[in-house]
Amino acid sequence: MRRGRTGVHGRGGAATLEICAAMHKNGVAACSPVDDAMTRPTTKPPLDILLAAPRGFCAGVDRAIQIVELALAKYGPPVYVRHEIVHNRFVVENLEKDGAVFVDELDEVPADAPVVFSAHGVPKSVPAEARRRKLFYLDATCPLVSKVHREAERHFAQDRHIVMIGHAGHPEVIGTMGQLPDGAISLVETTADAATVAPPDPARLAYITQTTLSVDETADIVGALRRRFPAIVGPKKEDICYATTNRQNAVKAIAARCDAFLVIGAPNSSNSLRLVEVARHAGQGPAMLVQRAGDIDWPAMAEVRTLGISAGASAPELLVEEVIGAFRDRYALRIEEVETASENVEFKLPRELRAPA
Ligand code: SF4
Repeated sequence: MRRGRTGVHGRGGAATLEICAAMHKNGVAACSPVDDAMTRPTTKPPLDILLAAPRGFCAGVDRAIQIVELALAKYGPPVYVRHEIVHNRFVVENLEKDGAVFVDELDEVPADAPVVFSAHGVPKSVPAEARRRKLFYLDATCPLVSKVHREAERHFAQDRHIVMIGHAGHPEVIGTMGQLPDGAISLVETTADAATVAPPDPARLAYITQTTLSVDETADIVGALRRRFPAIVGPKKEDICYATTNRQNAVKAIAARCDAFLVIGAPNSSNSLRLVEVARHAGQGPAMLVQRAGDIDWPAMAEVRTLGISAGASAPELLVEEVIGAFRDRYALRIEEVETASENVEFKLPRELRAPA
């Protein structure tokens, strides 16, 4: 597991052996698929943990954090970051300790400091303003979000109106809609919206989606759009990214076996919230979002014998270890990691950071 200057790197699933090693080192009795009932201390009640894999950091989040860390190393603090680089307070606070300064808008960035744009992407007006002010900027937009931006531009160039399926107010949606002039994209959040959206010409219509949506809900919305607009054009390959899809599938695979489910992530993280919903639909018990071990509702765990755990794409593995550690203090654990896909996606860093200082 790689750890950067902020100590937060490391992706779930891909680092299985290291996670196992860390757990053993920390006293967690065993991981997949070992039954360690014999080694459980008798003074603590037993608890089975099913650990979803893949979980946690995706390649886009990993790259975005690396960009800030490398910019700090290369240019020195302060490095300004427009918006949370990824949706996780722990990550943001660690970067702040190293000298990153998070701001809402470019007018808070001094002329002589580098600024990084977040993984969610930005409207075209943001780099345009940075160029106008001659700011040095690094774009940490995930390449899979940039791919959706290019799709939107292509449809627009072919004179199609675009329906974007996504959540109003999410930075990725603001960034994607901001690639085109006002009115070029209509936002649809639900199947009810799909039933009422009124494009100017139904024969020239395309749809794109936010990358971090529920796979199942999005399929329903796309189905509703297709029924109303048979000529609608969609992406060749899903806009919902590999990481979102894999994390949802991993949760689905274990939720039915769990009495309760914890997703480690932030309340403003779209993909973490979707994992909670998936766990609720596919499982039989409650599913809760926790940011840190301190958020665990211990009374709600009293009757739980099998607990599912996953983490959103912006939650570092350290926080998974912290949560497991809190359970280890109270229970005799048997941990089974259930891996439904392996991931080896990596994205190139911006050229400026690949070159020596
Ligand atoms: S969740 Fe998907 S789109 Fe978002 S940063 Fe990760 S890989 Fe990129």
